[in-house]
Amino acid sequence: MEQLDTLFQNNRAWAEAIKAEDPEFFEKLAKQQSPEYLWIGCADSRVPANEIVGLLPGELFVHRNIANCVVHTDLNCLSVIHYAIEILKIKHIIVCGHYGCGGVQAALQNQQYGLADHWVRNIRDVYYNNRKKLDGITDDKERVDRLCEINVKQQVANVCHIPVVQNAWASGQSLAVHGWIYSIQDGLLRNITSVVDSLEDVPDHYRVTEA
Ligand SMILES: [Zn+2]
Repeated sequence: MEQLDTLFQNNRAWAEAIKAEDPEFFEKLAKQQSPEYLWIGCADSRVPANEIVGLLPGELFVHRNIANCVVHTDLNCLSVIHYAIEILKIKHIIVCGHYGCGGVQAALQNQQYGLADHWVRNIRDVYYNNRKKLDGITDDKERVDRLCEINVKQQVANVCHIPVVQNAWASGQSLAVHGWIYSIQDGLLRNITSVVDSLEDVPDHYRVTEA
C-alpha cells in the first residue's frame, strides 16, 4: 500500500499548491463546471489531456478510450458527447490521437489480445478502407503513424455524423470539431484536420437533420 500512500500525499500537495495560488479555487469549482472544450483522447498514460493543453480542473471535459475512437453504437462516448453539447454547451470538440498508438498498432497485426480485439476492430476497418494509401509505406513505424493520423480524421468524421452534433449546428449553436495529433517524443500537438463547424461540411449521405 506504500505506493498508494504516495498518491494521497501527492494529492494533498497538489491541492495545497492550487489553493496557494487561489484560496477559493475548489469552493468556486464545486458550485459549477463550465468547460468550453470536450477532449476525446486515447487512454494511453503518456497522453494526459489537461496537462498537455495547460488547462485546470473545470476547463476540459474529457472522454478517453483505446485509440480515441468515436463509435456510433458506444453509449458511453455518445452520452459524453450529448451531455457536453446539450447541458454544458461546450464550443469545441477535440479528437486527439497520438503517434505510436498501441491500439492503432494492434489493428495492423494479425493476432489476438483478448476483449480489446473487438474495440480495435474499429481501427482495423479504418486501415482496410485506407489500405491502398498505407500498404505502400515500407517502414513499420511510419505506417502506424500514418494510420494514427487517418484514424483521427475518421473519428472526427464520426463525431460529425452524430445526430446531437448536427442538431446543434441546425439550431445555430456554436460548435467546432477539431482533429489533433500528439507526439509523445516532443510533447507537441499538431492540427491535422480542417475545422468542421457546420452541417455544410458533412457529406449529404450522413446528414440526419435540415440546416
Ligand atoms: Zn493510444
